[in-house]
Amino acid sequence: MAKKPKFQSPTGMHDILPEEQKYYERIYEVVSKMADFYGFGKIDTPIVEDTDLFSRGIGLSTDIVKKEMYTLKTKGGDSLSLRPEWTAPIVRSYIEHGMYSKPQPLKLWYFGPCYRYERPQAGRYRQFWQFGFEIFGEDNAVIDAQIIQIFYNILKELKLKNISVEVNSIGDSNCRPYYKKLLSNYFRSRESSLCSNCKKRLKENVLRVLDCKEEKCQPIKVEAPQIIDHLCDSCHAHFKEVLEFLDEIDLPYNLNPHLVRGLDYYTNTVFEIFSGKGDIKNALGGGGRYNKLVKLIGNKDIPACGAAGGVERIISLMKEQEIEVGKVPEIQIFLAQLGNLAKRKSLRLLEDFRKARVRVAESFGRDSLKVQLNRADKIGSKYTLILGQKEALEGVIIIRDMASGKQDIVKLEEVVAKVKKKLK
Ligand code: AMP
Repeated sequence: MAKKPKFQSPTGMHDILPEEQKYYERIYEVVSKMADFYGFGKIDTPIVEDTDLFSRGIGLSTDIVKKEMYTLKTKGGDSLSLRPEWTAPIVRSYIEHGMYSKPQPLKLWYFGPCYRYERPQAGRYRQFWQFGFEIFGEDNAVIDAQIIQIFYNILKELKLKNISVEVNSIGDSNCRPYYKKLLSNYFRSRESSLCSNCKKRLKENVLRVLDCKEEKCQPIKVEAPQIIDHLCDSCHAHFKEVLEFLDEIDLPYNLNPHLVRGLDYYTNTVFEIFSGKGDIKNALGGGGRYNKLVKLIGNKDIPACGAAGGVERIISLMKEQEIEVGKVPEIQIFLAQLGNLAKRKSLRLLEDFRKARVRVAESFGRDSLKVQLNRADKIGSKYTLILGQKEALEGVIIIRDMASGKQDIVKLEEVVAKVKKKLK
């Protein structure tokens, strides 16, 4: 067995090799076009932030803050953390740059890596890429529906099949406390049948019990009171409107009374998009409304709504569904050279082809014509240009038709135009 190299990428983190890049590029292309159409401005934030921003923004009782952050102490004694998600940093930036005084709603989008110290497994990494959309300064339900629509459209545009959208409302500070009390009473009376994790959740954040995937908790969950029956009038009206907007645009969705999402900052609408069915559902993205977060971070009462998608999960589904991406146009021309003068002239010639937007392959490191012609054959080039010492001195070049073996000699300064004509 081959010995493992001494150095490997950190656990749960992966190189994105040249052959993988086309997937990232394709997703970026679809996401950025969608952002452009809907009037979102792109934002980048530092990869690290003040640790308190996340503890406060995401919530002390969440798994992310409790155990998944990469936190470091700077030489100056500050505590910084690699971003586990983008919403809190974007809210920080929105406030810091006074974006609330610009015309609202203000729309931002992003694309970049996140870090969570999770147990690595299929579809769960320690470094993974997210894209996302955030809309600030508008409380209307049409915004919630638009965010869901954008995510759904992106996945459709990527030609993914078997996608399902699940939505729920988790109320607000008006109605949620009462519901949480009801839920606590319900689960407490059945505490001995819950898994050990849920026993902890029961104390820290009872809503998270609804999130549990353990077999033994399922029958208890099914019977639990549903928040939908306990929303206050305004939350009820908001949620009803969101669903009406989704109906209006014929966006298929399922109501999922157990959907709560892992982060504390949500109010009202939450949604998640899955691939697959039953137990093997895989979350591709999710989000919702977070009307209290801007206040929590920056003391400004500004409603907001947004969502994030997981790039690696989407890529893995694209591969599973054999979706073709980024077919690089074939290289039809190979430039072979022999000798120093020819090499010098080849360098300039290659530049002329680049300017004329004709892709040309070469193998400047090789000096044997046989090796170079073999390579031209391998990449399936239609024509090979041969520039030897004699041709270089005379200012001409040979165009060899690889299929027929026929060769033409043309002036160096005319070769780009001649090749372009042959390729038409
Ligand atoms: P979240 O805000 O945690 O729901 O994350 C949004 C999306 O990012 C999820 O639906 C996943 O597609 C993706 N995601 C979250 N955590 C990870 C991870 N550890 N590895 C890969 N993708 C992830």
